[in-house]
Amino acid sequence: MNVYFHTFGCKANQYDTARVRRAFEHAGAAVVDDPAAADLAVVNSCTVTHESEAKLGRLVRRLARRRGGIQTVVMGCAAALDNGHIAALPSVRAVVGGAEPAQVLRAAGVAVGVGAQAAGVGAQHAAPLHGQGRSRGLLKIQDGCDEHCTFCATTIARGANRSRSIPELVEEARGLAEHHAEIVLTGVHIGTYGQDRAADPGAVPRGPDSHNPGPSARGQPRLGVLLEALILAVPSVRFRLSSIEATEVDDTIARLLIEAPRHLAAHLHAPLQSGADRILKRMGRHWYSATSYRARLEWLAERMPVFGLGADIIAGFPGETDADHRATLALVDALPFTYLHVFPYSERPGAAATRLPGPVAPAILRDRARELRELGEAKERAYRLTRLDRRADGVVCGRGEGKVEVLTEDYLSVYLPVDEWDGSARFDITIR
Ligand code: SF4
Repeated sequence: MNVYFHTFGCKANQYDTARVRRAFEHAGAAVVDDPAAADLAVVNSCTVTHESEAKLGRLVRRLARRRGGIQTVVMGCAAALDNGHIAALPSVRAVVGGAEPAQVLRAAGVAVGVGAQAAGVGAQHAAPLHGQGRSRGLLKIQDGCDEHCTFCATTIARGANRSRSIPELVEEARGLAEHHAEIVLTGVHIGTYGQDRAADPGAVPRGPDSHNPGPSARGQPRLGVLLEALILAVPSVRFRLSSIEATEVDDTIARLLIEAPRHLAAHLHAPLQSGADRILKRMGRHWYSATSYRARLEWLAERMPVFGLGADIIAGFPGETDADHRATLALVDALPFTYLHVFPYSERPGAAATRLPGPVAPAILRDRARELRELGEAKERAYRLTRLDRRADGVVCGRGEGKVEVLTEDYLSVYLPVDEWDGSARFDITIR
């Protein structure tokens, strides 16, 4: 059987798809890049915005219209919340909530053979997922989230925080390091890593100088401990945090960002969502305020000579006034962001915000999103100018049209002609 895979959404989804893809390969299926050569498609869905679900619908319809009409198995977050809408799309063979490989294989009608069992199908995790086709490997450290942000249906789709053990992650990172120069720590709410686990101090290989001066804003400082263990085990690799709440950057993580940029990339993606406290409250994001978010990032920015800083922002959340929007713009302007991801608010089925009063008119919502995007783009251009002609620590992350894409520690893409590239996965590069 030839199987075509497509992934929507975040890096946690990419990781999940890689696990499912490997299970199919071990069960004897061939993975194809071209849907024209496929007997079946497996689509890993995302529920974060209305747009991501609309894209899912368009892709499934397109696959169904191809000659022979490819059947699709839809898995992942949107599948977990499906009220029948996805199942009713043309040529959908099955809808599988979550990302358990054995369930997806069964839904696809593929027998789970000896090879697939050996690959860990049905087990929590198995050997490292190298061969993800990039110089950057993904390491999913936890799944789920214990928070209940009112705009988010992820908690419903993915369940409570479940962290993997440090020894298991160290072993997987060692395997990834054989194939990848950078490893991205991913998950759904990585700042709460370990808060669900009993302490396993004997399993944590800490260095003699390691210390953790105090707990993070919300509990045990476990992500910093994990990072120290990973860096100690695989010092040749550059780790990167995928997305972390600003106030969950504990003192250990801060120290590594400041002092060890070759081991931990000088980059944070810290979701802001709104710069107005009353909107943060309506969003259910109780663990920070505009002031504490700003304080943590300014403190870091003062100490990091190079600092890639991104944020997610939702424009037009229910009840957002013009003054709230201005507060967000002012905060964005004040902080050294190097890029922004702006999402116009869209209702997610099942999320509590659907019941909030004060919807923002679509035209105003679009205007606010545009204003925020323009500000983000201006800051991105300004930051890049400050880095032009400077040297950076580059990791190759893609290739095409005669060029390789190189990612710097502060999350800038630099394109290098292939004939100027010596084939290394990681090297110093001049930003142009
Ligand atoms: S912190 Fe909030 S937005 Fe993030 S996954 Fe948890 S509930 Fe969703």
